[in-house]
Amino acid sequence: MQSFHDLVGGFHHFRSNYFLKEKEFFEALAHSQNPKTLVIACCDSRTDPAIVLRCKPGDLFVVRSVAAIVPPPEKAGEYDAVMAAVEYGVKHLNVENIVVMGHSNCGGIAGLFNPKAIEREHFINRWVSLACSAVHEVVQENADLAPEQQRRLSEEAAVLLSLENLLSYDWVEEAVQSGSLALHALYYDMATGSLNVWNSALEDFEAVTK
Ligand SMILES: [Zn+2]
Repeated sequence: MQSFHDLVGGFHHFRSNYFLKEKEFFEALAHSQNPKTLVIACCDSRTDPAIVLRCKPGDLFVVRSVAAIVPPPEKAGEYDAVMAAVEYGVKHLNVENIVVMGHSNCGGIAGLFNPKAIEREHFINRWVSLACSAVHEVVQENADLAPEQQRRLSEEAAVLLSLENLLSYDWVEEAVQSGSLALHALYYDMATGSLNVWNSALEDFEAVTK
């Protein structure tokens, strides 16, 4: 898939091999959606949640942001695409789960380790600065670790910060408290092909095994 022409060809393939073969499924979907899960994932081209989690159309309500960052209420923008999606997912679709999915080798987190590389990029700079506190804490507490290990821990910490930020919206917190909504943190390691899930009892990410 390299050119726009390839994308259009991809649609033709989708239409003849999937859409037209699963008519009832797509007819029902055309009227309404009822996803149980909202996924907040990074924009990275390698981490499409529907592909990684093997979901069908209609399964996931998705918003993607650089480094899967969710802004806290005091920093959410006047016009905020991430929070508009979260609000719609929680208040209108009544999703039962919110999954924040970070990943290895994340360019957004890498930017915080190399601020010079993004110093002239206003929007990226401001956006990733939302995860600054998490990264600083990791670096301070793990000064003896190699930079790549610090980056890995920072990628994980940024996911947890997004969960914390989600909980600082009272309508998210209320849904969680009432038991109608659960929050989950995932970390997709694309080098090893493993998916790690945050275990709050162990306070660590655990690899998902079959
Ligand atoms: Zn990323």
